[in-house]
Amino acid sequence: MAEGGHYDIVILGGGSGGYACALRAAEFGKRVALIEKDKVGGTCLHRGCIPTKALLHAAEVADSSRESEKFGIKTAFEGIEMPAVLSYQQGVVERLWKGLQSTIAGRKIDTIYGDGRLTSPTSVTVNGAVYTGDHVVLATGSVPRSLPGLTLDGVRVITSDDALKFDRVPSSVVILGGGVIGVEFASVWRSFGADVTIVEMAPQLLPLEDEGSAKVLQRVFRRRGIKFELDTPFQSVSYTDSGVRVVLGGGKELDAELLLVAVGRGPVSADLGYEENGVAITRGFVDVDPLCRTSVPTISAVGDLINTPQLAHVGFGEGILVAERLGGLDVKPIDYDGVPRITYSDPEVASVGITSAQAAARGINVVEVNYPLGGNGKSVILQTQGQAKVIAEAPSTPGGQPGRVLGVHLVGSRVGELIAEAQLIFNWDAEPDDVAALIHPHPTQSEIIGEAHLALAGKPLHFHA
Ligand SMILES: Cc1cc2nc3c(=O)[nH]c(=O)nc-3n(C[C@H](O)[C@H](O)[C@H](O)COP(=O)(O)OP(=O)(O)OC[C@H]3O[C@@H](n4cnc5c(N)ncnc54)[C@H](O)[C@@H]3O)c2cc1C
Repeated sequence: MAEGGHYDIVILGGGSGGYACALRAAEFGKRVALIEKDKVGGTCLHRGCIPTKALLHAAEVADSSRESEKFGIKTAFEGIEMPAVLSYQQGVVERLWKGLQSTIAGRKIDTIYGDGRLTSPTSVTVNGAVYTGDHVVLATGSVPRSLPGLTLDGVRVITSDDALKFDRVPSSVVILGGGVIGVEFASVWRSFGADVTIVEMAPQLLPLEDEGSAKVLQRVFRRRGIKFELDTPFQSVSYTDSGVRVVLGGGKELDAELLLVAVGRGPVSADLGYEENGVAITRGFVDVDPLCRTSVPTISAVGDLINTPQLAHVGFGEGILVAERLGGLDVKPIDYDGVPRITYSDPEVASVGITSAQAAARGINVVEVNYPLGGNGKSVILQTQGQAKVIAEAPSTPGGQPGRVLGVHLVGSRVGELIAEAQLIFNWDAEPDDVAALIHPHPTQSEIIGEAHLALAGKPLHFHA
């Protein structure tokens, strides 16, 4: 292990943002120090994307086994053995973690393990050793947030970090927060047999998604027996003999074994020397310009630490952008509307571009189409329900073709895998007529993208409005 020294780039935090920056910078021949206090891979690999998706896959297997008779297959569902589920989940994480460590080592990046602190605009100190760099990249990520007066005990009032280690299926759970993390855990626990209620302040689940997608998700969740209280603030929680009692605004009480607090994640920026060294911060987030430059010329920041969508692939993109900028390339700002978003619940919700509400708020005239999955052969085979909604600029002349596609919003099993095509459509400024000309393979769910664009271009195939 290196003991202090000078590098081209010193990166503080080895999560998605930090390690992506390190890997790309190394491709430019930069000498890179990657400082990490825990494990490279950060939240996404160890406490986020990967372990939750492993749980969601196990949940899908449980549902398939329960519902197999629907397909004429006889199985006996005998239950969930949580320690075995966790060992599968950990196996996935360990394998990817090993691969990542060897990729980092293979690029000759020095990984330094320990708690780092910014000690000047060009240095980070770890256990007394000083690592100086021509440039420093801050990538210390985020941690679960709570609400004022709500104490997390890790046993009955827990965060997603605790939930991922739970070695039994709770009998009942109240989930505070109907965002991505809350909805994904609701889906897992319901499939595992728990009684689940989500409490959400906003008028819909997944408040950042299109209202139409949320409505479909809510309908399917209701059918699955997942309860939710919308437009409802949390008031208090107290302990009972068997768990917790959650009191909601309006006085309603919910008893459950657990309260999962999933009200968002806050940036890790306190007491790390950032402000002392001139790095401007707003509400904990490091301020950056569109090229991830902070208020200090020698310091950049990426990932959950800055106020951009808290997604691993956003961290990758920002890390790469900074590395390429420092490598002398002419980089362009990220268009965050063009970043795909997926909630991996059953059903999945996936989107790119803007929602109908955002189009209205920006004063853009649009045309829209909702293509139901019931008209798609593969979706009927899978027995999934949902829809593909596509939003495009309204035609500029009466009877003309719609303009650019502005948003694609999908709901249904496996639709997350379809959003990559929608991402190309949005980011390459395609118009419905361009996409309508592309022949999609039959029978696949990708046809819902083709069909929705055919309909918008005025030539619907398997669609009746
Ligand atoms: C339950 C859950 C599910 C998620 N699912 C998805 C998903 O499906 N898809 C998706 O795109 N995103 C998902 N996310 C979000 C994703 O995990 C984050 O957006 C991503 O990890 C952010 O990367 P980052 O590098 O900014 O921060 P992090 O991954 O948090 O990494 C920061 C790193 O910095 C280290 N660090 C912090 N302080 C110091 C210090 N002082 N010294 C040294 N090291 C330090 C930390 O140990 C950590 O490893 C999920 C998150 C959660 C919690």
